[in-house]
Amino acid sequence: MGKPILPSDPANPSGQDRRERGAMNEMSKRMGECGKAYKDSLDNITFLAVNAKQYEFLTSPDAVAMLLADLGQVVAQIMNRGGLWLFTGYIKPAYQQGTGKANASIANQSKLYAEARPLETLLTSPPYLKRLAMLRGRVFNDMAGITSDIATTLARTLTQGLADGVGPLEIARRITDSTGIVERRARNIARTETGEALREGRLAETEDAQSLGILVGVMHLSALSPTTRVDHAERHGVICTVQEEREWYAAKPGRRNNCKCSPSEMLLNADGTPVFGDVVERTQAARAKFVETAREGKSEA
Ligand SMILES: [Zn+2]
Repeated sequence: MGKPILPSDPANPSGQDRRERGAMNEMSKRMGECGKAYKDSLDNITFLAVNAKQYEFLTSPDAVAMLLADLGQVVAQIMNRGGLWLFTGYIKPAYQQGTGKANASIANQSKLYAEARPLETLLTSPPYLKRLAMLRGRVFNDMAGITSDIATTLARTLTQGLADGVGPLEIARRITDSTGIVERRARNIARTETGEALREGRLAETEDAQSLGILVGVMHLSALSPTTRVDHAERHGVICTVQEEREWYAAKPGRRNNCKCSPSEMLLNADGTPVFGDVVERTQAARAKFVETAREGKSEA
């Protein structure tokens, strides 16, 4: 039997950089389309310049309300085009890849596991499909929240602009700003959920391996890059249970946000020590070096 399979790129432990960028770019593209729809709709409102800075709008309030209702539909169409794309295109593949990575790494360390859990049978097993269905539900809620967020924010921006008596150019500028704010939140959700899906896929499969009687825990791996948060870097090389890893994420709000870390499955001895202690030692040495370098960098600055 072989050793745990560590990430091929240590600076990208979850291996989701490219997928996360794809999800964020798709989100931005759709947000841009939503913003454009609201800006284009200004052509349907008749403005009368009172002076250089003050405008009246001559379209009836009822007509504006109808316009906003139509725009809400347009937003829903834009965000739901292609179905639940964030799930099918990004989060489900990330979860599946996480499951596959855990499966490959544990199988490499344990013959018993390798024989009991071939990947093909586990990906069609009812517990796995149930977990995917729950994840789909969560992404559905995320997307419903994002869709409602962009529609209500832009409707509010447009009506506020009309109430303030500013002209179409200024309203369009405000719509661009508002779109940007919602877009940043939406991109953050897309990125965070994708990384989270990879990690959760790995942790869930590790738990299932435990239920087969295999002694396996996880080692936390951080990117150890200049943008790695201190508490994430300090956890690099820490051996813990699946439960402890989940609790660490839950312990601090925002810890999951934009996290590039990944658990790595580690076979344990009966006393809880890792079977492949050398792998852990090397990982912990990398952490010590990183923390030391970071401290030196600070004292120089
Ligand atoms: Zn992290």
